Amino acid sequence: MKNAFDILNPQSRIMVLTGAGISAESGIRTFRDSGGLWENHPVDDVASPGGFRRDPKLVWNFYKQRYEQALSVQPNPGHLALKKLEDVMGDRFWLVTQNVDGLHDRAGNQNLIEMHGSLHSSFCTACGGNHPTGELDLEMELPTCPACNKMMRPDIVWFGEMPYRMDEIDALLNKSNLLLVIGTSGVVYPAAGFVMRAKYLGAHTVSVNLDAPDNDAFFDEIHQGKAGTILPDLLDSWIEKLS
Ligand code: NAD
Repeated sequence: MKNAFDILNPQSRIMVLTGAGISAESGIRTFRDSGGLWENHPVDDVASPGGFRRDPKLVWNFYKQRYEQALSVQPNPGHLALKKLEDVMGDRFWLVTQNVDGLHDRAGNQNLIEMHGSLHSSFCTACGGNHPTGELDLEMELPTCPACNKMMRPDIVWFGEMPYRMDEIDALLNKSNLLLVIGTSGVVYPAAGFVMRAKYLGAHTVSVNLDAPDNDAFFDEIHQGKAGTILPDLLDSWIEKLS
């Protein structure tokens, strides 16, 4: 079986998909760590449109805490290794994340798609206007829109809602020679399906994950362990072949 080092060359295109696992070493807990709960809350309460309709104060309180937590931690060596790879590859590199913590942005990645939204952004339930979360009055139980004064909501894609920029992601999958999937359990769709599609299209598929992901049969190459330990050396070895 070939590995990534054998197939990469200076024309190769790489798409990376990350999940909560890449931020674990920065100190943000994954779903799996908390037994399928998100920081002790059932996901239906804090990550669904119905949950927000039922109790918007609980939901806002939850995301304010997630926002403060994200601001209090730092990108780890896994995030930084991906920034280094983008620096070498330029537009032949794209990073798609399911994370909402903003750590890839803070690490400096620019070819970045936050498909589940971001804690750093919010939008108005009435006029639809987007505003940085940091510009809202977070002392209010239900922060209001700076433009129309109606209720804002976190710009997070909740269960039952359509992830962002799916057309772009599909086009990137079509032209990638390699898909690297990091720190995701492979159970949340549509992201869990990307590896099947990449494999069907003939790309080399690589997993870096602490536990075996649920969709492990679709990976050509599996590196089991912590992303912050594995990625710096692994991606340095790829960079040799890419530049
Ligand atoms: P998940 O919690 O279901 O799975 C995390 C995976 O990461 C597991 O397979 C685990 O083995 C692996 N992992 C844990 N520590 C790791 C490490 N140090 N290195 C490599 N792998 C490690 O997370 P998911 O698959 O991303 O799906 C959860 C959903 O929850 C996503 O849609 C995401 O938006 C949301 N979420 C986001 C954050 C965040 O932004 N940091 C945190 C929790 C949940």
